[in-house]
Amino acid sequence: MRCRGIPPRSRGGGCQSAGLVAPTLFFNDQLDVAHHANAFFREFDGTAEFSFTERERIDIVTEGEATEATQLATRLADEGCPVRYLEAEDVSEQFPQFDLEEFAGAVLYEDTGWVDPYTYATALQTTAMARGATFELDVEVTDIRVDNDQIEGLETDDGTVDADVVVIAAGWRTRSLLPDDIDVPIQPYRTQIVVLEPETSLSDEFPLGRVGTEHVYFRPEHNGDLLVGGSHHTTDDPRSTSTDADESFRVEIADLVPEFIRGFEDADLVNGWAGVDVASPDTSPIIDSPANAPEGLVVATGFNGLGIMTSPVVGPTVRARLTGSEPEFSTEPFATDRFEGVGVDFDYISTSDI
Ligand SMILES: Cc1cc2nc3c(=O)[nH]c(=O)nc-3n(C[C@H](O)[C@H](O)[C@H](O)COP(=O)(O)OP(=O)(O)OC[C@H]3O[C@@H](n4cnc5c(N)ncnc54)[C@H](O)[C@@H]3O)c2cc1C
Repeated sequence: MRCRGIPPRSRGGGCQSAGLVAPTLFFNDQLDVAHHANAFFREFDGTAEFSFTERERIDIVTEGEATEATQLATRLADEGCPVRYLEAEDVSEQFPQFDLEEFAGAVLYEDTGWVDPYTYATALQTTAMARGATFELDVEVTDIRVDNDQIEGLETDDGTVDADVVVIAAGWRTRSLLPDDIDVPIQPYRTQIVVLEPETSLSDEFPLGRVGTEHVYFRPEHNGDLLVGGSHHTTDDPRSTSTDADESFRVEIADLVPEFIRGFEDADLVNGWAGVDVASPDTSPIIDSPANAPEGLVVATGFNGLGIMTSPVVGPTVRARLTGSEPEFSTEPFATDRFEGVGVDFDYISTSDI
């Protein structure tokens, strides 16, 4: 594999995400959540510049994982999801670029796809503005104002804001904004992506996927390149971690990909970056008022590398916490009281183990 001069990273801030959407896999124990998220992306398709790219996904498994994978596929199919288990030779027949000699097979998901995170975020912003929301993009919140156990508003570097309700959705900075004596169990972790340009551009049928044992996932780009992500490690110092992909990660991916996808022996490495997201103890997000929080305070954090695909449940869950409304899915998996007694030093679980 050749390493072309990697251009300066063109994506910044929240646009570091790979944009994969696979809720049926990651919320296979909370299918009401998965159904809500899946429906949202299809309905939102066509809003402003946003489009949802439908694409099948294969989760490639070893012999040791095959029994569990078959059981998962059978259970999901029994529950009405378009999921099935394929033996290795059936994967190669359906997706000829894959050579799964070293693997047993794959779970095929037919309700998956991806979004461009930047276009998705700006389409959400446009929609919210049309409904009356305003955005202050270059203002830093410096403190939360509380009086008599009730939220009063915010202090910012641009002045004071009055508000009855504050939702802190500040990624790894969330804990630093919480009032004294209030905490949520989250840990920042760094993760990386590289983009490979194969000898021949990938076709429109090339699937998304993952090799769980290697902790890597992949998806095609619209231009026929391949985006490959992985390397999840907690960090004590998220502010100063590098936003570039490490040389060791590039080498790992350059060696790994040709082992199971044909056409990448002489691929060019054309881009790469790293970003920080936040882990919770059980890999599900925390969308709730923390214990002992003042009236009117909610957090939305701990998205565990799934924040794009989970985003459709955030608004309805925040609304449920504040108004008692009942969304079409259970919000219990996002409640803070599920972590009673769990401190912030919990063992990190990567979503590549789901
Ligand atoms: C490399 C990578 C690949 C990913 N791939 C996928 C994927 O394929 N699919 C998927 O679903 N998810 C993916 N994710 C995860 C997804 O991007 C995150 O889960 C999601 O962005 C988390 O959203 P958040 O709002 O909690 O945090 P963030 O996106 O970190 O946003 C927090 C925001 O709060 C702002 N902020 C913080 N403090 C303050 C303050 N004091 N004042 C004002 N603003 C403040 C920050 O500037 C930032 O804009 C990926 C993440 C990374 C890093």
